[in-house]
Amino acid sequence: MFKLAVWQHKKAGVLGLGKSGRAVAELLAAHHIPVLISEDAPVAHVKTFSPGIEVETGGHSEKLFACDFWIKSPGMSPHSPVLLEARKRQIPVFSELEVAIAFMPKKVRVFAVTGTNGKTTTTALLGEILKADAAEKLPKRNVFVCGNIGNPISHIADKVQPGDDIVVEVSSYQLEDSTYFRPHVACLLNITPDHLEHHGGMRNYIKAKGKICKNQRSNDIFVVNGADVSCAELAEKAKSRVLAFSTYPKHLLKTNVFFDGDELIFSEGQQLRPPQLKGMHNIENAMAAALMALSAGVMSDTIQRVFDNFKAMEHRIEQFAYHRGVVYVNDSKATNLDSTITALKSFDKCNNIWLILGGRDKGASYEILLPYLKDYCKRVLTIGEAMDKIERELNGYPVVRCETLENAVDAAMKNAQKGDIVLLSPACASFDQFKSFEDRGRVFKRLVDARIFKDRTSSSKK
Ligand code: ADP
Repeated sequence: MFKLAVWQHKKAGVLGLGKSGRAVAELLAAHHIPVLISEDAPVAHVKTFSPGIEVETGGHSEKLFACDFWIKSPGMSPHSPVLLEARKRQIPVFSELEVAIAFMPKKVRVFAVTGTNGKTTTTALLGEILKADAAEKLPKRNVFVCGNIGNPISHIADKVQPGDDIVVEVSSYQLEDSTYFRPHVACLLNITPDHLEHHGGMRNYIKAKGKICKNQRSNDIFVVNGADVSCAELAEKAKSRVLAFSTYPKHLLKTNVFFDGDELIFSEGQQLRPPQLKGMHNIENAMAAALMALSAGVMSDTIQRVFDNFKAMEHRIEQFAYHRGVVYVNDSKATNLDSTITALKSFDKCNNIWLILGGRDKGASYEILLPYLKDYCKRVLTIGEAMDKIERELNGYPVVRCETLENAVDAAMKNAQKGDIVLLSPACASFDQFKSFEDRGRVFKRLVDARIFKDRTSSSKK
């Protein structure tokens, strides 16, 4: 366990100059712990840090091995040579998550959300609910929403006061690196294949996700998808109180909420209208957020008010344009196969979708998409590094090779007809051609908007 008393007067090595690495370095330095940030990649311009933080880039030097303990960037492979060497030299390696929590007061409620898909939406929903609840109650408390959602937990660690709440979105990478993490209210939304190359297979991926509830105690809460086999297996082993949700009539765990097609009906008697978000997956996200909030003593009226005002999030089945009868949807956040299937299923089976697929491959087979492509799609347009693998695994299903997002947008916009949908839901990571999924989504929207603008201005001149 990362204990402040043990490491306070030692030197920290932080691996990786990413967002969470920078944030944890600043947190440690603020507590007078000297830090060396060590980045493998060459970096042209390193921004300045607070006194007490040293930075090396373009490789790891002996100075890193002289540090007393390390904090690893979550994206780094556990099999990277530098980490194998650390193990040999018995250097303790911690996750940013566990280090940040060690700086917080004990009397804080930690809500943690994980799952293959739906983390950000559920975290944001729960954050809004707890903030609304905190605003109504006395004494006032603060609610911090952090983690993978874009605000590293290390950023907020020093601001947290006793009695506050933290809602943290945790990835499988952060969990993999954690040993003692114990959220008071944990949520596991689903487990489907993703990040298999990083974890070295499905077994390890499930094992990492399982750490969300591994250290929970009997008075903690574990909210879990009752229709997901891996989730149900983990729930059976959990020591905490399990609250299950499902939108399927068949489930493996006794559920505490169901959807009657109109409202969420809870076993404790509450009834809630879900938020106005597209797709059954969002009903599940709402169920999970509501179960966590109710278990923490939030009134159902407060949850309802938040649900009624909650808007679709950017890059998540986001309908951003409508032109000449064609709808344009940005689902750039779909970085794995399951989220692309989810996006397709949120539409009707009308064979009217122009699906833009591809990017950096993440290891799973695209074959699983075939029945959905046949039901929902008119054309599949491929882009990026994964093009060849997609074609091979779709076994002759016709695809249009576009290489770039720009070509795909051109092809779709030239050929789509009234009633069609152009959907970017790539089932791949973005890093082959873009900085991030956000960058990819914004480029997509810009490309579409620019063409619509051109079309409108040229037709108004005629
Ligand atoms: P994450 O943070 O886990 O990536 P998001 O809330 O950002 O999840 O949603 C990303 C995409 O994942 C959505 O656009 C949708 O396609 C899919 N998705 C969201 N929630 C779920 C869910 N509960 N089950 C399956 N797929 C989902």
